[in-house]
Amino acid sequence: MSVKAERATGKRDARRTGSVPTSWTPKCFQRSGACGVITAAPRCSHRAHAAPVPKASSQFLVTATVSRTLAERIEDLLPQTQCTKCGYPACRPYAEAIAAGEANYNQCPPGGAEGIARLAALLGKPVIPLDTTHGEERARPLAVIDENVCIGCTLCMQACPVDAIAGAAKQMHTVIAELCTGCDLCVPPCPVDCIAMVPVTGERTGWDAWSQQEADAARARHDRRLTRLERERAAAEARANARQASRTAQAEPKAQEKPEAPAAHEDPEAKKRAIIQAALERARKKKEEMASLGAGPKNTAQVSAAVQAQIDAAEERRRRLGLTDDENAPHSGNGDKSAR
Ligand code: SF4
Ligand code: SF4
Ligand code: SF4
Repeated sequence: MSVKAERATGKRDARRTGSVPTSWTPKCFQRSGACGVITAAPRCSHRAHAAPVPKASSQFLVTATVSRTLAERIEDLLPQTQCTKCGYPACRPYAEAIAAGEANYNQCPPGGAEGIARLAALLGKPVIPLDTTHGEERARPLAVIDENVCIGCTLCMQACPVDAIAGAAKQMHTVIAELCTGCDLCVPPCPVDCIAMVPVTGERTGWDAWSQQEADAARARHDRRLTRLERERAAAEARANARQASRTAQAEPKAQEKPEAPAAHEDPEAKKRAIIQAALERARKKKEEMASLGAGPKNTAQVSAAVQAQIDAAEERRRRLGLTDDENAPHSGNGDKSAR
């Protein structure tokens, strides 16, 4: 077919863009050296282009559905209130526990009897009654905060698994009714007991009181919240690590700058104190020897004021050097020096 003819039929453009007009037979459009082989089958017969040509997109939808894990398919059937009544921290862990054979499929009160029937059909098991140790099937409630009593402690916000409460520290909090799944989780943490769960679906319970769209939306909000919490946790950890690194970096130069304590024999002050101490010790021994011979100092009562001042100054220096003890403590003024 000539170029002109191809343009006229749109086949040339289709070859360039890869779009296949429905009016003509599947054909290989490999960009370099399009082989031009026209086939009736969805697979090009050209050996170099043996990859399958996509059929309808539904084929891929079917494949994707089949490849979902059992836990994912179980989770798809759960009401996603994230209430933890099943004994697991959220719907997803409960689904995984059922898939692993670790939990029974009748532990979800928000799903109620219909939820059990859905799971039983998926699992190929009989429909059994709800295990009421996990709670009763009931009309769906909505959390309502008494805003006159709320003290703005944020505890309910932190407990809400789907971010359905708006507020800030020391501010009034309020429930966004459209987002509330009725999970009850905000009630216990409230220190002033100002949250009431008000039934809003009349006689309707379980899946009759809850739509698939609401479940999907709650699931998405819960997933977003987990992502946000993980991001905040990672950011807090990074900040803590940065602070620690900064403290370490500041401490290290100081440690390097700090001079090493000189050894005692290199410290001039210590050396001086040792010499003085030794001299005092010699003097004390000499005094004891003299006293034992009855030859102690005789002129202790006749010390002039000038000399006494010198003595006091010396004693003061010794005291500053830490060389005095009670026995050697200076005596003020002209007191009795006989003890020395
Ligand atoms: S809705 Fe509540 S009880 Fe049911 S699976 Fe989810 S967390 Fe568990
Ligand atoms: S507002 Fe309370 S009851 Fe409603 S979803 Fe949040 S925690 Fe659950
Ligand atoms: S837990 Fe109670 S007091 Fe605290 S913010 Fe929530 S509603 Fe207000």
